[in-house]
Amino acid sequence: MAKTELIKADVLVLGGGIAGCYAAINARERGADVVLVDKGSLGRSGFSCMISGVLHHFDPGKDDYDGLFRESVEAGEWINDQKWLEATIKESDNRIREMDKWGGHVSERGGETHTKTG
Ligand SMILES: Cc1cc2nc3c(=O)[nH]c(=O)nc-3n(C[C@H](O)[C@H](O)[C@H](O)COP(=O)(O)OP(=O)(O)OC[C@H]3O[C@@H](n4cnc5c(N)ncnc54)[C@H](O)[C@@H]3O)c2cc1C
Repeated sequence: MAKTELIKADVLVLGGGIAGCYAAINARERGADVVLVDKGSLGRSGFSCMISGVLHHFDPGKDDYDGLFRESVEAGEWINDQKWLEATIKESDNRIREMDKWGGHVSERGGETHTKTG
């Protein structure tokens, strides 16, 4: 029979893809005890390990916010959560720069942002 261990934590993150890892790192940075659980192997399960390395983001200094918002809503056939979309667009630049500071090796090529994967 499998051994059971009781672990206490302030925050339990389910899923160790990029979203889960990001949440876990942020919770830890705010002082929480964090446990991250994944049903598979971290870095080998889910979609994050397949990311091809192209990171589209909104650059407030260069890009047209209204145009990108409209294009995203239309591409989503008007079923996007528009508040979520707004937050995603507006936060994307800061998040990319944060990942770069963590060692994400972000670089810009031909108007697209790339990161080394693997
Ligand atoms: C081939 C391919 C190429 C891509 N290229 C790009 C790209 O270039 N740029 C880009 O921005 N996006 C790209 N994407 C999309 C990107 O990979 C996903 O949007 C992103 O990885 C999703 O991250 P996530 O953390 O939400 O989910 P995931 O990475 O899928 O993580 C979910 C995790 O949860 C775990 N899990 C699931 N159920 C449970 C459970 N019940 N209990 C515990 N753990 C559980 C899984 O094992 C997994 O590890 C690509 C996707 C694919 C398939």
